[in-house]
Amino acid sequence: GMPSLPPPVLAPRRTSRKISVGKVDVGGDAPVSVQSMTTTPTTDINATLQQIAELTAAGCDIVRVAVPSADDAEALPAIAQKSQIPVIADIHFQPKYVFAAIDAGCAAVRVNPGNIKKFDDKVGEIAAAAKDAGVSLRIGVNAGSLDKRLLEKYGKPTPEALVDSAVWEASLFEEHDFHDFKISVKHNDPVVMVRAYELLAERGDWPLHLGVTEAGPAFQGTVKSSVAFGTLLSRGIGDTIRVSLSAPPVEEVKVGIQILQSLNLRERKLEIVSCPSCGRAQVDVYTLADKVTAGLEGMEVPLRVAVMGCVVNGPGEAREADLGVASGNGKGQIFVKGEVIKTVPEAEIVETLIEEAMRIAETMDEA
Ligand code: SF4
Repeated sequence: GMPSLPPPVLAPRRTSRKISVGKVDVGGDAPVSVQSMTTTPTTDINATLQQIAELTAAGCDIVRVAVPSADDAEALPAIAQKSQIPVIADIHFQPKYVFAAIDAGCAAVRVNPGNIKKFDDKVGEIAAAAKDAGVSLRIGVNAGSLDKRLLEKYGKPTPEALVDSAVWEASLFEEHDFHDFKISVKHNDPVVMVRAYELLAERGDWPLHLGVTEAGPAFQGTVKSSVAFGTLLSRGIGDTIRVSLSAPPVEEVKVGIQILQSLNLRERKLEIVSCPSCGRAQVDVYTLADKVTAGLEGMEVPLRVAVMGCVVNGPGEAREADLGVASGNGKGQIFVKGEVIKTVPEAEIVETLIEEAMRIAETMDEA
């Protein structure tokens, strides 16, 4: 069995109601899930399924596909049927595609009521169809597509404006006794976004989907999302997350999982604890850390591996690690739980660490 998670140093999770997105629960006591969105044309069924398979392999829990046209809607049955993880259809403008997605067997539909013309008339029908099919919804409010009336009232997409819009849209569904939905209130500014979710969290028990829109290229988007999600999740707010990056979606999933692992909201797998290097380093720590990371990739056990640049502080600094190396004089001291077990030439460091990691992994599997 797997060792249990260390206790999170976080606020207790906000009490949200639980909904189902296919086989994945969102909200309540369900683990915080990681989502991404395909970048392939949805009409290209094979390419989309291939990308979904890659996302699944990377640990993605739920995938979303865009449905901007009738041709995309026609591709949904095949995608929903063959995907290994629940598929959410992302629909902005046309209620008819909402019905198509429900009929296609999608696990959920993301709607943006602010963007759907005459949406009010259609809410009852959408609620009834979703309820019949056991499909949940996400009400997704975006700063960029805020309801015109609210934009006029607030002047710009403030946190209050986003929340007003979301609460109003939620009430439309609740009037039809439909409650199987989560909400997102996205903004590209993490500070505005955090405030919006804090306000929204106080207004109801809806499960919340966290996202920073247009977060940017990989580096900036990773930092923005980590700061925003970290702030909210550490306060117990957030039930499912999507990191948006101008980068391949597998990268979004990796970042999302790493954020949850950093907060002890998901079990840590392989963790490389490498030193930043300093004037005492006797080895190229960056290269060694990269090689060790690559060599141990795919290890499925929670293993902390320390890579230290010198023998002066190495083992001592990494006593909490399961395994590690401290380099010096062209050699590597290999240590397990802070005790040096052997010294090997620098060229053998990576293979020795892999051997030792396998050995430790076996004892963990037996435990
Ligand atoms: Fe510097 Fe050694 Fe510490 Fe790395 S382990 S930061 S090289 S003192």
